[in-house]
Amino acid sequence: MDIAKRRGIIYPSFEIYGGVSGFYDYGPVGIRIKQNIERIIRDYFILKENCFEIDSPVLNPEAIWVASGHVENFADKLTQCMKCGEPYRADHLVEEKTKKQADHLGIRELNELIEELGIKCPRCGGKLGEVYDYNLMFHTFIGPGMKKESAYLRPETAQTTYISFRRLWEIGRKKLPLGVFQIGKSFRNEISPRQGMIRLREFYQAEIQFFVDPEKKESEKFDDVREIEVEIITKDDEKFRISLNDAVEDEVIKTQMIAYFLGRSFQLFERMGINPKRLRFRQHKDDERAFYSSDTWDIEFISNNFGRIELVGISDRTDYDLRAHMELSGQDMNINYNGKKFIPHVIEIAYGIDRPFYCVIESCYTSEKDRKYFRFPEDVAPYSAAVFPLVNKDGLDKKALEVFNFITDNGIYAVYDKSGSIGRRYARADEIGIPKCITIDYETMENDTVTIRDRDTRRQIRVKMNEICKAL
Ligand SMILES: [Zn+2]
Repeated sequence: MDIAKRRGIIYPSFEIYGGVSGFYDYGPVGIRIKQNIERIIRDYFILKENCFEIDSPVLNPEAIWVASGHVENFADKLTQCMKCGEPYRADHLVEEKTKKQADHLGIRELNELIEELGIKCPRCGGKLGEVYDYNLMFHTFIGPGMKKESAYLRPETAQTTYISFRRLWEIGRKKLPLGVFQIGKSFRNEISPRQGMIRLREFYQAEIQFFVDPEKKESEKFDDVREIEVEIITKDDEKFRISLNDAVEDEVIKTQMIAYFLGRSFQLFERMGINPKRLRFRQHKDDERAFYSSDTWDIEFISNNFGRIELVGISDRTDYDLRAHMELSGQDMNINYNGKKFIPHVIEIAYGIDRPFYCVIESCYTSEKDRKYFRFPEDVAPYSAAVFPLVNKDGLDKKALEVFNFITDNGIYAVYDKSGSIGRRYARADEIGIPKCITIDYETMENDTVTIRDRDTRRQIRVKMNEICKAL
């Protein structure tokens, strides 16, 4: 986090006003990494799964969130200190005390546990008030005065995809499965976010909704992921390693399509540079799963700093959402398909972006005797190369700029750095994980060759100037 702040990867927002927890800025280096992470997910779903991409408003009229059930149910269990007023998530206080998952417990159970375990305000030791449901949506209004309309900042992108279903069905020429991809910001007024960028109040999501025939939840490409072996925790807390093939055959994972996208997500996380040994698949417990969902799985990363971090949730949402919007809006969501009339079911793949971003940072951080740096894969690194003149005289700096212009003209993201010693410049490039450094020296002036140095091995090779792009 020290490097991240100092080098413009991420830093807390609103710093000069003391900051507000749950908000982070992506700096100039971090934004490149984030865009690369988004690109890995987007390219996969658009190019390989033939999804449509859409982009809907983040500010939504109330009806959407009434229909979805969020106005009524999208709440965390809040308790406040009766002495200092500090707000807490009741389940988190109980989890800290018992070291057991508590996010599925109800108000009565939490009140009882707080009483039984003698949990007090961690800040001042005061008595804690009654636990109650606190809605996590940001509420606001559209329009002025008496004509203003109640509205919310969306707490997820999914609903804004569902409400366009009829139109997307026409655009997609009435074929199932129909995949729709949306990436953008969502908002949750978290009670007391204390986990850096793991729990944000304003965050990015990439959510994919596959509209499917309720009787066809298989995947044609399951063979591609069949052999992947993963660590699984079932809803009954059984923990074991299993191949996705066996998980489906033994009905540990009930829907083949869910298993397929769990496997694909695992591969995408690995491509981003997230340590696969720290990933595990966790099935939602019966009382934790949304009531309409028939099966839900998360992929979690086990973090050194934050414990388990949910990176993606994959869920069979049945026809719940389309049916709810049909009832409230009066618009028919039934389709006629292959001689049947039905409301499609939805398989949802919901990625956070900020959390994988953090897990990439944690996984790629490397500390060696003489340097600390990020070992980002080339696909994720903020820049592909850094270009240096060995010295800033005898035309070397001019030549280096020429090289810089040549590679950037070829669409390669690079930085040009001519300040300080060459050793310092290598160190600066390593620190933010730039995979290759190109140096222009006196030999370049004689025979048009440059050195390319590899970040991880520090090995250097000499390459002809017109072959740099290929060499990179
Ligand atoms: Zn207190």
